[in-house]
Amino acid sequence: MNHIDILKNVLSNEGLRYTQQRQIIWDEIRTSSEHRDAEKIYSQIKIKNKIKVSRATVYRTIDVLVKNDLVRKVELGDGRALYEHKYNEEHHDHMICVETGKITEFYNEKLEDLQEEIVKKHGYELVRHVHQLFVKPIKK
Ligand SMILES: [Zn+2]
Repeated sequence: MNHIDILKNVLSNEGLRYTQQRQIIWDEIRTSSEHRDAEKIYSQIKIKNKIKVSRATVYRTIDVLVKNDLVRKVELGDGRALYEHKYNEEHHDHMICVETGKITEFYNEKLEDLQEEIVKKHGYELVRHVHQLFVKPIKK
């Protein structure tokens, strides 16, 4: 399925109409590799597009995309949340610098296996996981 049909599917599942505005929102998130908050996504859309997309539509559409697994919500633990797309993406985890807010993506095969192992030991099967490391630069 291409990215337009995927969006159409998600919207129809949610009983929402497919609109150009919602496509713009999905495209804005889909074509970026950044981790941004909803306000930043909204302001980028405003700058790049002639068509007016309301803030409420941006926020609501992001929620729908998160709910339907097209977008990942990265909670920073202090009430803030950043978003990134999950379209055609390999799984990765995040390291968040508490001083600068910089986000570093990482993937570690051993860690992935270990998580599976721990879950199995407890009689479960892993469905999904969120692994976030809060870090700060080493002072020299
Ligand atoms: Zn990421």
